[in-house]
Amino acid sequence: MKAEIIAVGTELLLGHTINSDAAHVARMLAELGIDVFGSCVVGDNAERLERALREGLRQSDILVTTGGLGPTDDDLIKETVARVAGTPLEEDPESLARLREYFGSRPMGANQRKQALLPRGCTVFANAVGTAPGCAVETGDGKLIVMLPGPPSELLPMLRDGVKPFLARRARGAIQSHMVRTFALGEGDGALLLADLTPKANPSVATYASDTEMFVRVTAKGESPEEAAALAAPTLEEVRRRLGDRVYGVDAPDLQTVVVAELRRRGQTLATAESCTGGLLAARITDVPGASAVFQAGVVTYANEAKTRLLGVPPELLARVGAVSPEVARHMAEGVRRRHGVDWGVGITGIAGPGGGSPEKPVGLVYIALSGAEETWLRVMRPTGRVMPRAWTRSRAAGHALDMLRRALQGLPVTLD
Ligand code: ATP
Repeated sequence: MKAEIIAVGTELLLGHTINSDAAHVARMLAELGIDVFGSCVVGDNAERLERALREGLRQSDILVTTGGLGPTDDDLIKETVARVAGTPLEEDPESLARLREYFGSRPMGANQRKQALLPRGCTVFANAVGTAPGCAVETGDGKLIVMLPGPPSELLPMLRDGVKPFLARRARGAIQSHMVRTFALGEGDGALLLADLTPKANPSVATYASDTEMFVRVTAKGESPEEAAALAAPTLEEVRRRLGDRVYGVDAPDLQTVVVAELRRRGQTLATAESCTGGLLAARITDVPGASAVFQAGVVTYANEAKTRLLGVPPELLARVGAVSPEVARHMAEGVRRRHGVDWGVGITGIAGPGGGSPEKPVGLVYIALSGAEETWLRVMRPTGRVMPRAWTRSRAAGHALDMLRRALQGLPVTLD
């Protein structure tokens, strides 16, 4: 099956809003093994939208639109889709009942009520967060137009709970898809390791990179879920084997989730002392539900004096080697560990930039220390000649700290060669 995404909204065309909905929809379709043939943005204009829909239907089986369903919009998108699908709009009693329930004793205006107006015979996707339902309407020749609300907070749960299961039932055969997540492996190196696997179609192996991580998706299609799973398994194993201990998880949401789970499993605790990351590491850890079982404290010690007062870093050491140094990172990790009586302490100190660098200590130099019961390890992030953005340096430093902890917990070498 082939699909296209049409994001509707003049604010997207103007660059005021980033089209993240298209990325979420594309990922969901890829997970189902549905090929995305195109993705476009159309302003709030009925004529251009109609043209995009008709062109899309010529080559694709499924069109997914985003935006334009809420109470503040006119009915441009629904009216245009209804016209193209050849189906009139009518009030959906169940959606109206949900809207009434949402408003309770508060009055519901006509613009709110019109959200229940949907193409006749469509499949409705309830909105668990906001008010506008989404829907899928079939065209005369058996193709499908799916309309979804714009706000990502509404779109994401609707994709997960409504659209994905619905499309999975329509897609022929079964899909088994796994995401292998790695840290500290460049996309180029990863792609080289997998070079002979990526041209294959089934299972397919695709690499992706974010700022600080590399991911590999392994997708297999089969006649049944069992067949797809059996097809995927050996390739998944091979990918894991080749990428080795840089793999921090398969189908895990992120590094911090893996770390919190490992700490919980061992009943161990953690405290962090951060300078240039300003609490980013603590924020990532506390993003994970249940982090309170393992995370004791996080301190942000920006000034030298704070490093001394809150962590016990000796002032003469700071004066001698400077705050951005391996010695101070170690003292921070050991100090926070001792002062909070935890199993693991992390210390991060560095120069995030854009200012503050020197030839000896350039922007992007960061020391990350992990202190455990028996040892304190150190990693150094050295700039590679290009000055990276502040946000990148901070994010990568927090990632290194999490990766060190993950490796220490799993009994793997903590420092990287
Ligand atoms: P609402 O109920 O808020 O009116 P809607 O379905 O009508 O929802 P729009 O009015 O088109 O959606 O957009 C509402 C908000 O959703 C936008 O201001 C923007 O913040 C966000 N949004 C819309 N389209 C996208 C998109 N493609 N990617 C990311 N965010 C989007």
